[in-house]
Amino acid sequence: MSDNFAAQLIKWRRTLHSWPELSNKELETTARIREWLQAADIRILDYPIHTGVVAEIGQGEQLIALRADIDALPIHEQTQLAYASKNDGVMHACGHDIHTSVILGAALQLKAREATLPGRVRLFFQPGEENCTGAKQFIKAGALDGIQAIFGMHNEPGLPVGTFATRGGAFYANADRFIINIHGKGAHAAHPEQGNDTIVLASQVIQALQALASRSFNTLDSLVLSITRIDAGKTWNVLPEKVMFGGTLRTHDVKVREQVQQRVIHLVKSLVEASGGTAEVSWTAGPPVLINDENWARVSAEVAKESGYRVRTADLHLGGEDFAIYLQKVPGAFVSIGSASEFGLHHDSFNPDEALIAPAAHYFSQLAEHALTLLRENAVQESTV
Ligand SMILES: [Zn+2]
Ligand SMILES: [Zn+2]
Repeated sequence: MSDNFAAQLIKWRRTLHSWPELSNKELETTARIREWLQAADIRILDYPIHTGVVAEIGQGEQLIALRADIDALPIHEQTQLAYASKNDGVMHACGHDIHTSVILGAALQLKAREATLPGRVRLFFQPGEENCTGAKQFIKAGALDGIQAIFGMHNEPGLPVGTFATRGGAFYANADRFIINIHGKGAHAAHPEQGNDTIVLASQVIQALQALASRSFNTLDSLVLSITRIDAGKTWNVLPEKVMFGGTLRTHDVKVREQVQQRVIHLVKSLVEASGGTAEVSWTAGPPVLINDENWARVSAEVAKESGYRVRTADLHLGGEDFAIYLQKVPGAFVSIGSASEFGLHHDSFNPDEALIAPAAHYFSQLAEHALTLLRENAVQESTV
């Protein structure tokens, strides 16, 4: 890896960072990635997608994919960096600019040895990760067709640069959203007996939901239920007839997820109806639990070790990640690479260490080539998950 290579990737990353775009609106980002790939003579594939880029390097039967996500978040950046966001209210606060530059770097290295690659590497620059729409779009467009294994990364602010972590099996969480509406009879604040006091009811329900998560399920089941919003009332002397609140449920097991959902619905309805009110619970499914293929997770960690990373087994992650949707269709592995940011993901001062970019790019080019070699030699059992 030359200094030039690292400097080029950092330059690209800073350009992406200065001009972040929200999910499914990544038009300029898409144009830039296309331009950089074309300048490197990398062939771009034509799929019916609005934003995002699919490209390919190499020839032959074996086919794997490397995926980067390209979207940013509706956050006003507070880093004061010279290359901070110039799109007011939008920020690359999840480091997808880092992921994109890593996979661009891997592409350059793979292109340099295209003639000897034992197969093809398809590059996914995927839009709409944050709103869980991008992987579905790419699959619908046919970009995943023929892929034998897929790999992707997330930077991990809590790990030092040079550290790598992954795990076989469940990794990132199932991340569902819910909204609960409680309706009752409003009343004068001086006469709560004439109504159902929906605010007191909602607070009872919220307490009960916390007890449900911590008391009715095994601690080892790995579940988090958080109420993140609540909205009721307009003034000081009226008890409102309606309360809306909502939040998220994170789980790593499909059965636990279903059980919690059923218990939440049952608990809310019975508590509210016992007090004469009515309630509705609506769920929005987020990304499913991310399940790494055991073989590919092991191969990913072995290549990381050979590339000089300190390798750890990752803990279960409570974030959601739409890469999980690819892994429902084809085997592969998602990995964490240390980015040593004092502030975490989605924070307005998130500032990952760019030193991770060039080594990670090198790593993904090695992983891609190694995976193709294993597939050609039939040395990895092609398991589906
Ligand atoms: Zn994010
Ligand atoms: Zn992210």
